[in-house]
Amino acid sequence: MEYFSIKKAIPRQWLEKLNENNRSSSLISLDLSDGDSINTQPLNELIFYEKSNLYYKMLITKMEFCPTGPHSLARDLNTTPDVIIDSFINVRALTKSSKFIILQYKIIHRIIACNAYLHQTRIKESDKCSYCDQSDSIKHFFFDCENTRRFWNTIEIWLNNITSSSEIIDLNSVILGYDTNNPTLAIVILFGKWFIYKAKLIDSPLDLNKFKIFLKYQSLIEKQALIINYSIKKEKKFKSLWNKIEGNI
Ligand SMILES: [Zn+2]
Repeated sequence: MEYFSIKKAIPRQWLEKLNENNRSSSLISLDLSDGDSINTQPLNELIFYEKSNLYYKMLITKMEFCPTGPHSLARDLNTTPDVIIDSFINVRALTKSSKFIILQYKIIHRIIACNAYLHQTRIKESDKCSYCDQSDSIKHFFFDCENTRRFWNTIEIWLNNITSSSEIIDLNSVILGYDTNNPTLAIVILFGKWFIYKAKLIDSPLDLNKFKIFLKYQSLIEKQALIINYSIKKEKKFKSLWNKIEGNI
């Protein structure tokens, strides 16, 4: 899986360039930001004799390629790659717990272990969802599945009740996380995604009461982290995230 994750993360432009040069065995020309350039040797020669040097130079230059995962996810969600990348940055403002941040990283790079991905990497024979017979893509895994939609719907009703609001949880808000202007909803969606992710791995039902217990547990962890590393600013942030739901979980 690690091999396929790395392979998928190679920017499309790099792959196209490599394929193009592999086919033609022509010279390659890579413009580097410091005015240096590599344009005198066939690609095969560079690959075998200067591989690490070549890629090191490419990585330290300011060639800004967006990896393929965010690009294709942006197409799927009818948005731009910048919005996809921002969703990862926003998650880092909600929690310091690396497992939730990594989950969003996996989502934007499309390396979530949904059945479509496992089928693509030849780990599973079928790409079908565990709950229904549709293809288990990332969109299906986190939102489109009827089972998952029901779960989000119960969360939406519960949350709107306790916060006296009328927020709508849709596909884009689930995959990308909610606007940080509504931190309560943002944190519930983030932990909701994690809850779905873990439940599906063990074929466990998606239940609101279990999710509330999970939220309670996470709030206690975040509170403990605040106590250990206290500052007024952090306390203010904790309250903005948890105050509205703490008494209801
Ligand atoms: Zn399904």
